[in-house]
Amino acid sequence: MKSLAVINQKGGVGKTTTAVNLAASLARAGQRVGLIDLDPQGHATLHLGAEPKRPTATTYDLLTGDASLADVWCETAEGVRVAPAHIDLAAAELELAGVVGREMILRDKLAGAEAEFDYILVDCPPSLGVLTLNALSGVEDVFLPLQPHFLALHGLSKLMKTVDLVAERLNPRLKMAGVVLCLYESGTRLATEVSADVETYFNQLRGRSGPWGHIRLFDTRIRRNIRLAEAPSHGQSIFAYDRSSRGAEDYRALAGEVLAYYAGRELSAAA
Ligand code: ADP
Ligand code: MG
Repeated sequence: MKSLAVINQKGGVGKTTTAVNLAASLARAGQRVGLIDLDPQGHATLHLGAEPKRPTATTYDLLTGDASLADVWCETAEGVRVAPAHIDLAAAELELAGVVGREMILRDKLAGAEAEFDYILVDCPPSLGVLTLNALSGVEDVFLPLQPHFLALHGLSKLMKTVDLVAERLNPRLKMAGVVLCLYESGTRLATEVSADVETYFNQLRGRSGPWGHIRLFDTRIRRNIRLAEAPSHGQSIFAYDRSSRGAEDYRALAGEVLAYYAGRELSAAA
């Protein structure tokens, strides 16, 4: 089972759009996919057409109670199983404040899902609090969506330190798998320039020890596409909503790169 978290402490950069559409695309490619919604806003849950009503167990119960992942999975029309989030997840941060090992809860619960999935994706909230720490402790790979504007790399040092600390203390297998440029305005000079800057910046980290030494910029650019912005309100992935849109094309290409990335890694591990 591959596990990956989509992380950026900024909101509106394309985390949820990427988590949902990458998950849906992987499912369409025949993979068994689960998506864990760790954002109290529950956008990924809604985007996949699942709306948890009490007493459905949600990721709140997963992190603060006895619920296992098996208790929270909901089937969706996209072929992705979702562990839904409810707004009450916002209280988890405070409720877990005094709990020993609070950053490791998801990791322990993920252990039970190993045999059932090929891919588990985690959609994170726009913060570096206990929810995101649970994602970082639980998964093997981190995907970082960036919006190519001139502040794209601004504020990244906090995230970099957090990832390094988690890798050092809690999750030694943690890797920064890749950067995905989202909301890309193709054909603009700014997008081209920022792409080049981002590439240079991350290239100089490659080969270093620690989680950032694995980082790469995915070739696929997720272009700004109105159909991607419309799909969530229909409770559908871009593939169900408009499979011939540019958004569908881009996320299909990204999923192809992701599958190739893992296939390559398995090959090198076997060698
Ligand atoms: P985050 O999860 O990082 O807060 P979202 O994925 O929710 O970001 O994206 C923020 C907003 O931008 C949402 O309204 C979403 O529908 C829209 N959006 C995301 N990616 C694109 C895109 N490539 N083209 C157009 N709109 C997009
Ligand atoms: Mg989001």
